[in-house]
Amino acid sequence: MNYISTRGKVANISFKDAVMMGMAEDGGLLVPSSFPQIDLASLKGKNYADTAFEIIQCFADDIPADDLKEIIDRSYATFSDPKTVPLVKIKECYLLELFHGPTFAFKDVALQLLGNLFEYIMKERGEKLNIIAATSGDTGTAAIHGVRGKDNITITVLYPNGRVSPVQEIQMTSVTDDNVHTFAVNGTFDDCQSLVKTFFSDLEFKRKYNLGAVNSINWARVMAQIVYYFYAYLQLDTDERVNMVVPTGNFGNIFAGYCAKQMGLPIDLVLATNSNDILHRFISGGDYSLQDVKPTYSPSMDIQIASNFERYLYFLFGLDTDRVNDVMTELKEDGKISFYDDEIEEVKEEFKSFAANNIAIKIAIAGVYKNNNYIIDPHTACGVEAANVLWLDPEETIVLATAHPAKFPEAVSSALGVEPTAPEELQKLQELEISRNVIDKDIKTVKSALEKGFI
Ligand SMILES: *Cc1c(COP(=O)(O)O)cnc(C)c1O
Repeated sequence: MNYISTRGKVANISFKDAVMMGMAEDGGLLVPSSFPQIDLASLKGKNYADTAFEIIQCFADDIPADDLKEIIDRSYATFSDPKTVPLVKIKECYLLELFHGPTFAFKDVALQLLGNLFEYIMKERGEKLNIIAATSGDTGTAAIHGVRGKDNITITVLYPNGRVSPVQEIQMTSVTDDNVHTFAVNGTFDDCQSLVKTFFSDLEFKRKYNLGAVNSINWARVMAQIVYYFYAYLQLDTDERVNMVVPTGNFGNIFAGYCAKQMGLPIDLVLATNSNDILHRFISGGDYSLQDVKPTYSPSMDIQIASNFERYLYFLFGLDTDRVNDVMTELKEDGKISFYDDEIEEVKEEFKSFAANNIAIKIAIAGVYKNNNYIIDPHTACGVEAANVLWLDPEETIVLATAHPAKFPEAVSSALGVEPTAPEELQKLQELEISRNVIDKDIKTVKSALEKGFI
């Protein structure tokens, strides 16, 4: 499989090189040059790791099958549920519980694998890697747990000061391995992400330190997430189309669903946002204009500039890289993208959408608890509320449950008056002190702070 950039100036990249490159060197994102078609019958009855192997080997064909199998098995052995990502029925829908990995959010599904892929490629090439990551909370946590203690790899995480949940902050800052560094940036997630993009665009700096990306600009993350769309569908034992409702921030998770659909999976995609609703405004009315980021109960979705959206645009524009370049320039200069009517029509056929404000989030948490005695987290709540409001058939709808509710106890207790019971690993963390390295969002300051931790 070859990878090409959405901006047209990078092509013929192998899987391993795509993993190492992160963002394409022309500023675009890497996408596969074609979508392999998957025979659903061949996956029936397979466990999660075996399903993952069948799908991932189509994309990672430059890693010998035995090695790839071993990497995948090891990556999912860290999940506490025997089904890895179990499907649970509640009255409103099915929930795909993606939070049984080490940090209790769905990002572990991709980052456990990516950490092991990095380690494998570094060993083979005899190189060192310095990862930098921007996080709205869960990516940084999951990335740290994906690479902590690994040889020849460091990770530095930038997160918005005061805008991640206390549990997320402790999960990141309490890791004491020498190769892990964290900074609380005075700014928003978009500021953190823009800093990381600036460092990756500085090709001299990028090559000098061999920078690696764990944000969902890295193709391997999207790839790993494609797997659970197939796995979830096959658990249902149906031939019908199924709705997949996806709580969305950076458009990474739902883009994986789009890829699964291109690979032959019969699903309809429903995008759920919180009050940071640029993607909902776009799908429902073609309005893609940036607004300020509003803090909500679901901080991992407090995003305006959804990086992975560019991957979707490339396909929406019929692989026209000139048009991708034009609209990305428009977004940078004018804070908006203008679309043609036929494009907006196509988007409406591809996705349904809904934006859940904080009240709707609380209503969904309370409703699910009342009906099922089951507690959902505030991100999953955006998805469940979308399923409710759009009248999706509970028997044919899967909402992706992206985090364990105990990661976001404030939102849950304001909806229910009781806090979710934290798993033992999270309870232990609450006894620890947060050690916070606050830093201003100035590029020079951040750059020199980063260099101190690099190998
Ligand atoms: C990251 C995250 C999301 C959003 O996923 P994207 O891939 O950025 O769209 C939703 N819920 C939780 C809990 C997350 O951590």
